[in-house]
Amino acid sequence: MKLLEKLKSIEKSAIKEILEINSLEGLENSRVKYLGRKGELTAAIKSIKNVAKKDKPKAGQFINEMKKKIGSLLDEKEQGLREKEMASLENHDITLPGIEREMGRKHPLIRTMEEIIDIFARMGFKSVDSPEVETEFYNFEALNIPKNHPSRETFHTFYVENGMLLRSQTSTAQIRMMEKEKPPLQIVHAGKVYRPDAVDASHSFMFYQMEGLMVDKGIVFSDLKGVLEKFAKEYFGEDVQMKFRPHYFPFTEPSAEIDISCFICGGKGCRVCSYKGWLEVLGAGMINPRVLEFVKIDPKEYTGFAFGMGIDRICMLKHGIDDIRLFYENDVRFLRQF
Ligand SMILES: [Zn+2]
Repeated sequence: MKLLEKLKSIEKSAIKEILEINSLEGLENSRVKYLGRKGELTAAIKSIKNVAKKDKPKAGQFINEMKKKIGSLLDEKEQGLREKEMASLENHDITLPGIEREMGRKHPLIRTMEEIIDIFARMGFKSVDSPEVETEFYNFEALNIPKNHPSRETFHTFYVENGMLLRSQTSTAQIRMMEKEKPPLQIVHAGKVYRPDAVDASHSFMFYQMEGLMVDKGIVFSDLKGVLEKFAKEYFGEDVQMKFRPHYFPFTEPSAEIDISCFICGGKGCRVCSYKGWLEVLGAGMINPRVLEFVKIDPKEYTGFAFGMGIDRICMLKHGIDDIRLFYENDVRFLRQF
């Protein structure tokens, strides 16, 4: 019987197909394909009328059994798929916390900068901004470092186009502020500076500096001392001692380098202070009258002081960091500690 042959082949491919189904959607498609009104079995039933009379009961019985077989196979498969779906929902604990998005935090250098600016702000210093790409005038001339002056060699500098340069010190901000505003002036500025230094544990081509400035009538060296001492005690601790060593800077006169007693060993000597008991933290001095003249402030009427410090160095001292490169390598194992 031709019909029987056809039915057997439909059954065979239906069983194979149903066993391979792995989604409820695929299962529904197969149900429609085999058992639906326009399905293959329905079409087979309709074709019984063409079968010889004696074969009709046999064909009818076969179709009924086949319908049952495919139907129960589909039901079985559906149950399996639904159980699997439930299991995956049960394994998913909705009381678990969601996907955690890690919050970033401030870089240790930015935090150090903000802490220091905060201390000076409480003493009345205003924090200002200043450009990183500068002219030679602001980086050198106005700071009393004329062309061919030997001291210029100590300020190795990155030059960019059109005679512009990446500032090698934040003292440029002093000039810009004194040009813009008239005394009394009390400002701080912190930001990046650039020098073509070979990178090692204590040098980087880019680092952070902070600059402070106070100009008014009757400002004297003891004002500078008072302000810096207040800063050192606030930032490093009440017991810290200060020491001024005479030094040379072109833009201040007299100039000094300022050491604080080591806040780790209390001056006894340790690894951080190289067993000297003192740490160099600042450069400062009274603003050179020639610098005041450059910005058209009368040095006979006004005096002032300026100071500068390396933010990287202060941060390294405070937190016992022994390699400046750690600040710029963005290794989260390091950054997470702050
Ligand atoms: Zn020490």
